[in-house]
Amino acid sequence: MRKPARDVRDVPQSRRQKKELSRRGNELVKADGFDADNGSSRARTNAAGTALTRPNSPVIDFDGLSRPSFGTRERLEEDDEGKAARLGRMKGAVKTLLECIGEDPNREGLLATPERYANAMLYFTQGYQQNIRDIVNGAIFQEGHNEMVIVKDIDVFSVCEHHLVPFTGKMHIGYIPHNAVIGISKLPRIAEMFARRLQIQERLTKDVANAIFEVLQPQGVAVVMESTHLCMVMRGVQKTASTTITSCVLGCFERREKTRNEFLSLVGVNRR
Ligand SMILES: [Zn+2]
Repeated sequence: MRKPARDVRDVPQSRRQKKELSRRGNELVKADGFDADNGSSRARTNAAGTALTRPNSPVIDFDGLSRPSFGTRERLEEDDEGKAARLGRMKGAVKTLLECIGEDPNREGLLATPERYANAMLYFTQGYQQNIRDIVNGAIFQEGHNEMVIVKDIDVFSVCEHHLVPFTGKMHIGYIPHNAVIGISKLPRIAEMFARRLQIQERLTKDVANAIFEVLQPQGVAVVMESTHLCMVMRGVQKTASTTITSCVLGCFERREKTRNEFLSLVGVNRR
């Protein structure tokens, strides 16, 4: 059963309606223990008669946000006062960090560092607030095209959730359409959405593949990522030249070795 890429839930809503939907969504999870990992999609209707379908997806929630949690929704919906309070708490935490490493947070060079770092961290994690539907924005075209499409060497900057330091690298995304193609610039933006948060490379690779599979419903998706982790090269083992490669293949890429190998040789991962 194929669902349309955009549906009634994509109609822009007022802030209040969004809050109501978000609240109801949370209740649904609590009420029936229905989460991304189980069962098929279920359709619900709210008081306004809007369908609330919770997709059977590990990455995208019913309102287009990804892997929502109380904290990220709160961040998305907070007012100016809330934003200021959040920044204040973050600045205090960074000041504590500076003191704990033996620095003087009051010396000139460090005076503005807590605020800079807090803002940088919010930027590095802005993907939590992004909505997959806003990113795709209807750029799905029925072209009747069924050949492999690849975007390679997408720069990816993410933050390791175990050490809070960056990992950076290249992502290669391929898919085989089921008639519909997605605007080519959307693939790096989807990668960016999932990279701008605390991640591990394995999950980032899977999140991107699953999200594309869900919004486009192609015959298959393949994602490969090669990256360098600062937590690995700057500390511990200090293997500065090491690269970590992860991949996730779905649909026909998973089923057919020939298709998978064609993708891998086109993106050059088989070159070594
Ligand atoms: Zn790490």
